[in-house]
Amino acid sequence: MKVVGLGGDEPVEGTADVVVAIDGPAGSGKSTVARRVAEGAGLRYLDTGATYRALTLALLRRRIPVEDAEAVADAAKAVDLTLELPPGRAGAARVLLDGVEPGLALRTPEVNATVSAVAAVPAVRELLVGLQRSLVGVGGIVVEGRDIGTVVWPDADVKVFLTASEHERARRRSDDTEGGGETAETLARRDALDSGRAASPTRAAADALVIDSTTRTIDQVVDHLLQLIEAARATRPR
Ligand code: C5P
Repeated sequence: MKVVGLGGDEPVEGTADVVVAIDGPAGSGKSTVARRVAEGAGLRYLDTGATYRALTLALLRRRIPVEDAEAVADAAKAVDLTLELPPGRAGAARVLLDGVEPGLALRTPEVNATVSAVAAVPAVRELLVGLQRSLVGVGGIVVEGRDIGTVVWPDADVKVFLTASEHERARRRSDDTEGGGETAETLARRDALDSGRAASPTRAAADALVIDSTTRTIDQVVDHLLQLIEAARATRPR
């Protein structure tokens, strides 16, 4: 598992810009918010969920029994997963599995149904958190996930935990064409597993700002975060 710049293994230029952590359950609106905030603030973007999905896809392709934590931990070490930085200082990091971007294969019902079991294995989290940190360390990035503010980057300059009512989250997720229309049942099951697991459960960091997006538009939430980033940049040497 490695992080590369565009064009291969050349060293990556660090930036002194802010790290923004956005955590929350599925359907809280965090993907849309995180992408738009990154675009609006001219920052890179990393979807850590895609790393767990890519690893799960690799294990399913290798027919590893995903309920067997030991087999998962063993097989995970051999998976060829790469995070590729976007060109310049903005844009989304790409997740490559065996050198190829898996695209919609990350969002199949099979991956939705098994990713939480894989993500609950401590050895998997250790591997992927290490990979994610190598990229976040470059700076100037919006990072989206479940444990960014608590585990991956507790020193983030802006830390937000997005929530929404269960009904609203299920509605948004089934509306989301990118998400492939996950059912309310799998979504609820995934959230329960992610929040109930022993290793880095979905949780707001003690110093995170909790934003309930049920009654706020995406635009309002994005604007709020852009203001927080502006304030954080003003107090940070660049
Ligand atoms: O964000 P997304 O819904 O695509 O994440 C897919 C799964 O990956 C989650 O249900 C969770 O099991 C796992 N995940 C995680 N920690 C993260 C991001 C995602 O455990 N930081």
